[in-house]
Amino acid sequence: MPRKPGLGIAALVALVGFVPPSAAQDYPSKPITLMVPYAAGGPTDIVARSLGQTMGKALQQTIIVENAVGAGGTIAPTKLKSATPDGYTLLLAHIGMSTAPALYRSLAFKPIEDFEQIGQVVDVPMTLIAKQAMEPRDFRELLGYIKANRDKLTLANAGVGSASHLCGLLFMSALDVELTTVPYKGTAPALNDLLGGQVDLLCDQTTQTTQYIKAGRVKAYGTTSSTRLDTLKELPTLAESGLPGFEVVVWHGVYAPKGTPKPVLDKLVAALQAGIQDPAFIQRMGELGGQVVPKASATPDSLRARLKSEIDRWTPIIRKAGVYAD
Ligand code: ASP
Repeated sequence: MPRKPGLGIAALVALVGFVPPSAAQDYPSKPITLMVPYAAGGPTDIVARSLGQTMGKALQQTIIVENAVGAGGTIAPTKLKSATPDGYTLLLAHIGMSTAPALYRSLAFKPIEDFEQIGQVVDVPMTLIAKQAMEPRDFRELLGYIKANRDKLTLANAGVGSASHLCGLLFMSALDVELTTVPYKGTAPALNDLLGGQVDLLCDQTTQTTQYIKAGRVKAYGTTSSTRLDTLKELPTLAESGLPGFEVVVWHGVYAPKGTPKPVLDKLVAALQAGIQDPAFIQRMGELGGQVVPKASATPDSLRARLKSEIDRWTPIIRKAGVYAD
């Protein structure tokens, strides 16, 4: 006899669009999915997996990382927008949330209005790296080399809207050169090709590049931080090497679908705050060049404020560069 399917909570939520209070009280009673906009093994994925572990500990529940890749990182927030607002689908996104509105002519989501902001996580600088066989020994030599070989050199990125795209954009505009850009679904595959010598240059977070720079497997020309990093002391900042003011900080935030019940949001904020204060998380991020935010920044208000100020910061710069994606 075929069994009549009962109306589970998820179906009920989908049907009536709200989460019953009992479900919010029991939260979380099953694994939570944390979406990441970029490929597995890359810098954002590394942050998400560490955070998933530490937040999962606080919530006493498993957090599964899902790489919802594509379109420069805009697929994942688009998916989050239509996810059930029950706290079982979350998103870890970075600075791209503040550049996408200016870069995309038609974006399926509004970063501030369409989501519940949970809080900030960690700030990570970037590094300008190249394949090992790249001739220039330092940044000064690299500048001349780029100008002389502008037609041949390739610059990898994780698509329009990624941090690597933004960094590359700023770099090319500072040098007034246009290189051939090669988009990937994340900088893990981009780095792979850089290691194989298929692409020449990449600007990428230290969360991924630190180990390759230390092992000498790539050439490193500078950091996008305002001061040198403790983890890579030998490496000058791009600002000190001749690009004054060149600074990109890849900040990260956790988001939930709009309409997630307040008791669930409160639990997520508490878990985020516990997670970012976990010494193991702080140490891991620190070793990779990241600076975990203070507890006061792991709040919805703080993430909203950062989002807003970063949108205000990047929009005119991107408009001036005249770069658009559809
Ligand atoms: N580093 C990438 C970016 O450029 C994303 C990633 O693969 O984590 O935004």
